[in-house]
Amino acid sequence: MYKAKDGSDLPDIFRVWAEEKFNACVKKAEEYLKKELKPIKLLFGISGNHAGIAKTIRKNGIETYEVHLNSLHLLVEAKDMLEDTIPHEVAHIIVMQNWGSYCNNRRVMPHGQEWKFVMSNIFKVAPKRCHSYSKMKIETFKRSIQ
Ligand SMILES: [Zn+2]
Repeated sequence: MYKAKDGSDLPDIFRVWAEEKFNACVKKAEEYLKKELKPIKLLFGISGNHAGIAKTIRKNGIETYEVHLNSLHLLVEAKDMLEDTIPHEVAHIIVMQNWGSYCNNRRVMPHGQEWKFVMSNIFKVAPKRCHSYSKMKIETFKRSIQ
């Protein structure tokens, strides 16, 4: 049975693909914004229906940044995950680092204009809010490995 929860069963090649895409996104953003981003951790292994999650963790006045990818989705829908989910989640972190939660007395929304700007202008990816993975494909895959 595939134990996707901590990502430990994820074949290395998927990890390498994801890391390459992730690093390319960070580099693109740094070039475009002409500044170095604070380190972002890439982690594998969320379960459930989320394809990816972007987290900003505040502790003792310090912010750290994490992108979590669902390793099961990565196995089944690698192309969508690489082309869509990784830019989507990295864009959330870039918005946090570059604009923060408030900008010009206005709350910066998670999928608001700044996030759309990063997706369209920096990553050249259509800014879709929700992932469109076929749930059935993933359920079928889960059954096939049980
Ligand atoms: Zn999002």
